[in-house]
Amino acid sequence: MKDYYRVLGIPRNATDDDIKRAYRRLAREHHPDSAGHNGDEERFKEVSQAYEVLSNADKRALYDRGVDPNSRGGSAGFGFEDIFETFFGGGGSRRGPVSRKQRGGDLLLHVDVSLEEAVFGVARDVQVNAADVCATCGGSCCTPGTAPVMCRNCGGKGSVQRVARSLLGQVMTTAPCPSCGGFGTTIESPCTECSGQGRTHSRHTITVDIPAGVETGTRIRLQGYGDAGVGGGSSGDLYVEIREQAHKVFERQGDDLHCTLEIPMTAAALGTVMKVDTVDGPREVNIRPGTQPGETTRLKGLGVGHLQRTGRGDLFVHIDVETPTALTPEQEELVKRLAVLRGEDFPEAKLAPANAGLFSRLRDAFTGR
Ligand SMILES: [Zn+2]
Ligand SMILES: [Zn+2]
Repeated sequence: MKDYYRVLGIPRNATDDDIKRAYRRLAREHHPDSAGHNGDEERFKEVSQAYEVLSNADKRALYDRGVDPNSRGGSAGFGFEDIFETFFGGGGSRRGPVSRKQRGGDLLLHVDVSLEEAVFGVARDVQVNAADVCATCGGSCCTPGTAPVMCRNCGGKGSVQRVARSLLGQVMTTAPCPSCGGFGTTIESPCTECSGQGRTHSRHTITVDIPAGVETGTRIRLQGYGDAGVGGGSSGDLYVEIREQAHKVFERQGDDLHCTLEIPMTAAALGTVMKVDTVDGPREVNIRPGTQPGETTRLKGLGVGHLQRTGRGDLFVHIDVETPTALTPEQEELVKRLAVLRGEDFPEAKLAPANAGLFSRLRDAFTGR
């Protein structure tokens, strides 16, 4: 019986990590393709056999009791090639048949909401194409009364081994069984309703509770409303992603709303009360006598509802003063008289301080200062 510990150059109490490290080093050193042409196929095979046994707890225990697992079964592939695959590409560390049970896929749906819907929240019916568990076979994929049978091609292992020629000589690779697709079982009599898929597709209408405060990019997760799983697997989730449509007059910044109210010059000078249509209906906005362009009135709590907490943002009404145009001769006469009365018939140029004028207010609004 070969001394696998000596082959790998490790003590009998070596840990799994020691074994792996020793194998990696030796395999690289003796790899027949290795740079420098120092490769040694026989030595490489020996190292791989040793690793095959010592890296597997069951086989190692057997070996320590005096039985060489590699000498059993004679010509049956002892699997060093599988390790080769694991370490040098291929990555086929999967063993045994794969389960037919699979979680259903997640679905993503886009929903357009108006600003008003984002402000207050809305219950929205959406149409979604999702997979359902087949009502006829209950997801088993088999005609009722039948069950999957063991695959004759792979004997239920789900994988088959293929021999390929390479510089190493014969190399065995493991591939999913082509007959059963890796499941280890085949379905002799597929359900006719779902063509053996275990699922059927249909269009559902789902009512989505869209909370106040959503905005473009907000995703709402509806657990279990995605595709049904396969073979009894759990359902996926449905994600509803919000796209908020622009509003004609209100602009949103966070949970605050902004609008611009255009008032006549006379109203700005004399002051008045105006009815403004907010998202909550008409509200009175007080215009004080002598209101300047760019002044802002804040209406508390008339903004967007906060997402996941109570309360709402505010509505900011920005005042714009309209200068009268197309004056009738009589109006022109009146304005001229007013100018004379106010000593403004030949006004002097007056520059506002750099940080107090309209320009800096506009700039601050853009840069968010
Ligand atoms: Zn079915
Ligand atoms: Zn098979």
